[in-house]
Amino acid sequence: MVKKAKAQVTYAKMKGIVSYFTALMKDKKLGSSHSIYQQMDFLRPESGLSVDDGAAAICYSDLPRKEPQSQVSVADFDYLKVIGTGSFGKVFLAKYRENGTYYAVKVLQKDIILSRKEERQVMCEHRVLLKTLNHPFLVKLHFSFQTKDRLYLVLDYACGGELFYHLQREWVFGEPRARFYAAQVASALGYLHSLNIVYRDLKPENILLDSTGHVVLTDFGLCKEGVVGRSTTRTFCGTPQYLAPEVLQQKEYDRTVDWWGLGAVLHEMLYGLPPFYNADRLEMLKNIIYQPLVLKPGVSNAARDLLKRLLNRDRTKRLGAKRDLTELQSHSFFSSIQWDELLAKKIPPPFIPSLSGPGDLSNIDPRFTEIPVPQSLGACEEYGATFPGFTYIKENMTSLSAETRGH
Ligand code: ATP
Repeated sequence: MVKKAKAQVTYAKMKGIVSYFTALMKDKKLGSSHSIYQQMDFLRPESGLSVDDGAAAICYSDLPRKEPQSQVSVADFDYLKVIGTGSFGKVFLAKYRENGTYYAVKVLQKDIILSRKEERQVMCEHRVLLKTLNHPFLVKLHFSFQTKDRLYLVLDYACGGELFYHLQREWVFGEPRARFYAAQVASALGYLHSLNIVYRDLKPENILLDSTGHVVLTDFGLCKEGVVGRSTTRTFCGTPQYLAPEVLQQKEYDRTVDWWGLGAVLHEMLYGLPPFYNADRLEMLKNIIYQPLVLKPGVSNAARDLLKRLLNRDRTKRLGAKRDLTELQSHSFFSSIQWDELLAKKIPPPFIPSLSGPGDLSNIDPRFTEIPVPQSLGACEEYGATFPGFTYIKENMTSLSAETRGH
């Protein structure tokens, strides 16, 4: 089914809203004096609350430069197309010259990171990528290296594209399809929680599909480490229409923000719009905080019940508050899911992206692929070390490199 013309929100519009708020939040690190608060009294932080608990950024440029030089460098890849954009730079489809493998290379501009004092967050994303190499629905890091001006994260290329891209073309997903994606995302979130990591930025753009139609959760740029059990944090970040009310209001929050995020994404998969949607963004934020959840007919009772429980404003009563993923797994909406089989990727995906090969770009929004690739990217740039600990090469790749490259 093609998305209906009467739809109020196009992919581009939604991306616009998302980018606006994400940039605002990342760029400005919203404080109570920020103009958004002047417009939105209802978002004013409670007195005495710190808006950013990650504010004491480490100044990496002051640290000693002991970074080992990676065996893999920018010049080992052909940068073919832009496949995504983010707040610190772009993501490229690139081909590893040595063996012809396609990767998604996320390139971050150091000057932007430093000017926004986001060194700590970037290193956090890197650490999370290293900690989570073994989950089937989390993107895998293969290499990371740096030049004087940029950081490079070489990731699996999820050639099935963004879930958002498919959703906007189909308007809504049927329940079996929504259930499959929601279950895979829930598994990934539960795994992160088991490592005391809160994902915090769940949105359909960060849920990608691999070539076989399984979920690949990407972008750990807003993860928070060290949130143990039911302990809480207060940083204001994430994407507004998927943000839990306690995050918007800068109250304490915990890992249950991710279950709210899952509820928001599931709502969008089933109804075509995030919950509490309003074309006026201030109204939408108000709605998230105050408006009762109205679930229209057209989806099953089990789905509506799950949405109600995930989108509970009281995080202590939200589904997942007590036993995390286990609580979701036993909800009737997921009763047909065999969780072990899901993890083993034995359940056939409900949709298989049509692809001509591993470097296929047909599921990537042309808005990205039309952006020119900077010529300078693949050039042998001056090596950099201002982000100690960033350089990484996957174990089996080390031996591959040593064997095949004579190092
Ligand atoms: P944001 O500012 O939204 O947090 P970011 O700078 O952290 O973004 P990502 O979200 O990691 O960047 O990537 C931006 C986009 O690039 C994603 O939404 C997705 O479309 C694309 N992308 C990222 N990683 C991959 C991947 N491994 N395979 C395919 N596409 C990817």
